[in-house]
Amino acid sequence: MISRDDCARRDAADALAPLRDQFMLPEGVIYVDGNSLGALPRATPARVADAVRQEWGDGLIRSWNDAGWITLPQRVGDRIGALVGAKPGECVAADSTSVNLFKVLSAASRIVKADSSARRVIVSERQNFPTDLYIAEGLCRDLGWTLELLEPPALIERLSGGRGGDVAIMMLTQVNYRTGALHDMASMTALAHAAGALTVWDLAHSAGALPVDLNGAGADFAIGCGYKFLNGGPGAPAFVWAHPRHAGRFWQPLSGWMGHAAPFTFRPHYEPAAGIARFLCGTPAVLSLTALECGVDTLRAADALGGMAAIRDKSIALTELFVALVDERCAPIGFACASPRDARVRGSQVSLTHASADGASHGYAIMQALIARGVIGDFRAGTAADAHGPALPDILRFGFTPLYLRFVDVFDAVDHLVQVMQREEYREARFNKRSAVT
Ligand SMILES: *Cc1c(COP(=O)(O)O)cnc(C)c1O
Repeated sequence: MISRDDCARRDAADALAPLRDQFMLPEGVIYVDGNSLGALPRATPARVADAVRQEWGDGLIRSWNDAGWITLPQRVGDRIGALVGAKPGECVAADSTSVNLFKVLSAASRIVKADSSARRVIVSERQNFPTDLYIAEGLCRDLGWTLELLEPPALIERLSGGRGGDVAIMMLTQVNYRTGALHDMASMTALAHAAGALTVWDLAHSAGALPVDLNGAGADFAIGCGYKFLNGGPGAPAFVWAHPRHAGRFWQPLSGWMGHAAPFTFRPHYEPAAGIARFLCGTPAVLSLTALECGVDTLRAADALGGMAAIRDKSIALTELFVALVDERCAPIGFACASPRDARVRGSQVSLTHASADGASHGYAIMQALIARGVIGDFRAGTAADAHGPALPDILRFGFTPLYLRFVDVFDAVDHLVQVMQREEYREARFNKRSAVT
């Protein structure tokens, strides 16, 4: 049996433990949803207030130059880039993940079309995050291309043995949002390249959660999210990266003035900036980028303590502990791990399914009852079987952010889950009313 004392001892020996002080976490809350919305860094409120009062209030329009607002997309982009294996000047922070995906998929499609008219298929995973699939679906409609959704083993088959001759782009999210399953970026990129396809990687659940090496993998394009493990705040700008071999090729379709080679010459015709700057579109969201910079700095604070490798080690230790505790205490009451059991192929989250004695799905209500106890995770509804694959179950999702989660938090979260079930708290009516956001 794993005891709470065992967990407290692990916290005492944890070199990353001091990083928790960088965050403002409410008393009595165990936050296991940093994979969906990262916690508030302590530095953010004062920094944003300063940007509002001094930079905006006093500096007014002068702050575009004096406070460096105009280069925020590059400055924050470089800081994020350092976490995902990009070199300075290769990454910018701007727009949303969905919008950036449209830009890079479009740019990739233009590269493919210039080289080959035979490649008209985007392949992805059926269990990819919906917005990624919707954006690709929309682009395919415009291009007259096809989006093919496959389960990972079928995807590998599709790109092997000469069967990928019609594939233009492989679009994958490195860490699956439902299961936490982690793709090997280097081998999947190599597979796609061997088939003659370009790669677009979504790093929404990997940036700030585990070491990523875009250049090492030879990836083509990447995008990612600012408000998850990067702690940038609700609706924070996202980021976009293009390998230097592609960054200066072709326009991306949202050819706004901030991606122009010289925006303040106000010339009537578009001329793309060199490199990644052409992936910018309109005026940067200065206040949001300011908050995002504070969020990214919470990860940089780990540099002296082993950086992303140390964060990954602790992430694995936290998820392994959670899985062990679930096996020990929750398996007998109907819970099962829906994430890979091998930590090497798992991101920084663990999802659980629940099979109830009455056959009904109580997953949503169980998560609501947990949240009422201060254990904040989330719920993702399953989907029915379709032509592309089997039904997916409802899941309870637990994200583990090594910067602020303690081993005792993992122990306590599981303890609360056991109590929610023993006391049948999930049966309360208030936990069975669905809100707009789950
Ligand atoms: C969170 C997430 C997004 C979010 O996209 P937005 O444009 O910020 O809404 C996109 N893709 C994946 C894989 C995600 O996990």
